[in-house]
Amino acid sequence: MTLARIADTSSCDTLPCDTPPSAGWDLHCHTVFSDGRQTPEDMVREACDRGLHGVAITDHDTTTGWQDAVDAAERHHLPLIRGTEVTADASGVSVHMLAYQYDPRNARVTDLFVSLRKARLTRTRRMVELIAKDYPITWDDVLAQIREGDETTVGRPHIADALVAAGAYPDRSAAFAGAVGSRSPYYIPTPSPDAADVVRAVRQAGGVSVIAHAGDPSRNRTLLSDTQIEMLIDAGLDGLEVWHRGNPPEQRARLLAIARRHGLLVTGGSDWHGKGGKPNRLGENLTDDQTVARIIERGAIPAILPH
Ligand code: AMP
Ligand code: FE
Ligand code: FE
Ligand code: ZN
Repeated sequence: MTLARIADTSSCDTLPCDTPPSAGWDLHCHTVFSDGRQTPEDMVREACDRGLHGVAITDHDTTTGWQDAVDAAERHHLPLIRGTEVTADASGVSVHMLAYQYDPRNARVTDLFVSLRKARLTRTRRMVELIAKDYPITWDDVLAQIREGDETTVGRPHIADALVAAGAYPDRSAAFAGAVGSRSPYYIPTPSPDAADVVRAVRQAGGVSVIAHAGDPSRNRTLLSDTQIEMLIDAGLDGLEVWHRGNPPEQRARLLAIARRHGLLVTGGSDWHGKGGKPNRLGENLTDDQTVARIIERGAIPAILPH
């Protein structure tokens, strides 16, 4: 599919549309290179089966899965853009930034990811030390849950999988409702860079930044305020992920209003983590083709658009 064909298929008069797109791309997907349970190949195959126009790989704090995703997209003739979900912080509010189509060789971004993954490892190991006092798991059991190599982003989902393997919980979601959840006594927050710094780093690397699930009340006691979002816009923010299962209707309306006021991109994605990862289905939320075309135009690297 060519970029022109992608750009051709818009259907909404007022931009951004105030209803979720019924066709398009899933721009929020995790694989075994972070905390997803399936490979980039599985992601691409399932996206084809579901009739998506394209897909984005967005593992946490890494680009390690990009090459596998490119190979799979070419094999299956499915358009692909490349991205990363970066865990960040804005004055105590946890903010997940989706960064698309940036130059993966940019030193500021690669240094950021290396230090984030290192800090995550220390933090996850500390949580396991605490949990191991009450549950039958060791650090090695957690490491055994990592499907890829040293550059996989390790976090609470891997602890959850070790607890499931030890028989302490029936599945990952149950472990998140218990020992690994953010309200458990074992919880330690992920060390996170400032969200405005992430926006600036992504911009410097030629990428496009979008706040993921900014209106999800289950993630934060206090959500990002309009003013905080406006500060990120001043830092170079490109868009808001409005179409995400975590954003309730009133938050979608608030985010859409901000997007209209500031001419931001409006995106959607499933936050797919594969079978046994989360219940989210690939393609359950989508980004329209025209918005994807804008991301591709703005980005520093080519999209994979197989003929
Ligand atoms: P961490 O970043 O280490 O604090 O772990 C939080 C991550 O767990 C988020 O990226 C979630 O997407 C992920 N996660 C994966 N599966 C689940 C689940 N079943 N319930 C809640 N969070 C999950
Ligand atoms: Fe995740
Ligand atoms: Fe997220
Ligand atoms: Zn995600």
